[in-house]
Amino acid sequence: AGAMRMDVRVAPLRNSRVLVLAEDRTEARRLEEMRRDFTANVSHELKTPVGALSLLAETIAEAADEPDTVRHFADQMRKESSRLATLVQELIELSRLQRPDALVDPELVDVDEVVAEAVDRVRVEADARKVNLVRGGTAGLKVYGDAALLTTAVRNLLDNAVRYSRPAGRVSVGISRHDALVRIAVVDQGTGIAPEQRARVFERFYRGDEARSRETGGSGLGLSIVKHIVNDHGGTIELWSTSGKGSTFTIVLPEAYGPDNADDEAATDRDD
Ligand code: ADP
Repeated sequence: AGAMRMDVRVAPLRNSRVLVLAEDRTEARRLEEMRRDFTANVSHELKTPVGALSLLAETIAEAADEPDTVRHFADQMRKESSRLATLVQELIELSRLQRPDALVDPELVDVDEVVAEAVDRVRVEADARKVNLVRGGTAGLKVYGDAALLTTAVRNLLDNAVRYSRPAGRVSVGISRHDALVRIAVVDQGTGIAPEQRARVFERFYRGDEARSRETGGSGLGLSIVKHIVNDHGGTIELWSTSGKGSTFTIVLPEAYGPDNADDEAATDRDD
């Protein structure tokens, strides 16, 4: 199965040269398998909460005269529906990102605003889990892209950092610049990620620990969405982690040198 198969096409050019187009069949087959896996995963992920919901509804109907039982199962139903809603939302986001024209109209984006907005959106969850969420100082840096998508990327990282933290743990997010690259780092003191899992966490539907992740309410799509968004912006994502001690996810984006920030660029030296 490992052998590489090539489809070769030859197109004649001027000056008696030829263009040789070689397509790797193994790669095509791998992509096809990925598509099939994805569909199977989606079906499985949707079936599980839908099945749970109908079971819970049945149980409630049977226990109609026991208020405590009804309340308990109604609460379970609420949790399952919110899981389902998140999953559907993330699937929609992912399919939107997979379109070739995902980033149609890049504009100058203020990185401080992106981070502030993302922090606002996870604040309630952080408070509920007694996690200390800290935002570093403003950096006055800009990138080209889509502010809403970048906010989603930072929010997903913060969301994970909070969910995989311990109570009273600290999650911080800071912005810096180095060599014309803007770095947004999300640092947590949570469970950390084992070395053999680090490469896989960005895969769609990959979960470190199925049971644990379920309990934390994840869908396994968060980081693949982050990776898509960052790639679409010409950036990269870095992961540093020590098992049991915590993780640092860093989004690295090319800095924008637009007319809007060309002036203060000359006036201040923000290299760190
Ligand atoms: P999930 O919805 O399961 O969190 P993600 O794609 O966001 O899906 O993350 C994939 C897996 O990566 C998680 O299931 C978890 O095992 C691991 N992970 C992600 N972020 C962190 C973090 N900050 N600390 C520890 N593990 C993490």
